[in-house]
Amino acid sequence: AVPVALVAGLSRAAHYGALIKGAKPLEALAGIQTLILDKTGTLTDGRPQIVSIQSHGVLSEDEILYFAAALDQGSKHPIAQAIVAAAQARDIVLPIPLDIVETPGDGVRGTVDGRRILVGGLNFVMEQVGASSSSAAPQEPGAILVALAVDGQLAGHLVMADALRSGTSELLTGLRRTGIKRILLATGDRRAVAEAVTEGLGFDAICSDLTPDQKVRLVLSERENGPVMMVGDGVNDAPALAAANIGVAMGVRGTAASAEAADMVLLVDRLSPLLSGIEVAQGARRIAL
Ligand code: ADP
Ligand code: MG
Repeated sequence: AVPVALVAGLSRAAHYGALIKGAKPLEALAGIQTLILDKTGTLTDGRPQIVSIQSHGVLSEDEILYFAAALDQGSKHPIAQAIVAAAQARDIVLPIPLDIVETPGDGVRGTVDGRRILVGGLNFVMEQVGASSSSAAPQEPGAILVALAVDGQLAGHLVMADALRSGTSELLTGLRRTGIKRILLATGDRRAVAEAVTEGLGFDAICSDLTPDQKVRLVLSERENGPVMMVGDGVNDAPALAAANIGVAMGVRGTAASAEAADMVLLVDRLSPLLSGIEVAQGARRIAL
């Protein structure tokens, strides 16, 4: 039988916005040693704004936004959704794209108006147009860069910025007080962006340019030091959430894939239930012992 203290703990955690999927994860939550946070949509609020659009001469800014947004309509990625919202705000009418293939965390390929389009991170797009990712990229330290290629040629970039969630510094301090020894960032984005967003937060390590597979490998290698909690929102985070002792999904604007893979789902669009959940779990453990 499940002790009463655990049942009460699950219901208290839910009250704070942390849906914990059973007594086992609640118990594991009390002893987390390492916290790994995803960046876009997890550490940041996931509502990136377009700062500027840069064309390589052939297309206008609106045409760059048109092709990028057309392709990104089917994507759940926060950057994709921001690009679509920006096109709608400019009253750009979006066509239905064909032959869509999304590579989670990297970008999307497909056909729009008979032209082959690629939109996504610099490495993803530049690899496929056969150029180095630094050539012609805007020099904007800390900004998220999205590249667009049309018919195999680099057409332009969207420069985007995403804000850190408020209260993050205090939250990380509180989490360390529960006994968490290491806090790491794991992102598919570039190092410069990862460093800018975590500046002054005292992260123990920044792991950038990660594929979904590499996020899994990071979780598994950190597990050698003790129980790991991994928090993420994207399809690209789901395997890493499943690999962690406690996988946590952002439930409000995160993807269904991440919520399914998780042991705990945050029911509010904030990170604070991470701390409440651990405190409730530690309280339940004291009573259950
Ligand atoms: P994180 O791991 O921090 O959540 P992601 O790996 O999800 O970040 O995204 C990394 C980068 O990939 C983004 O900064 C963006 O350049 C690019 N990207 C991924 N998916 C898309 C998409 N559907 N449309 C445009 N850009 C994308
Ligand atoms: Mg993310």
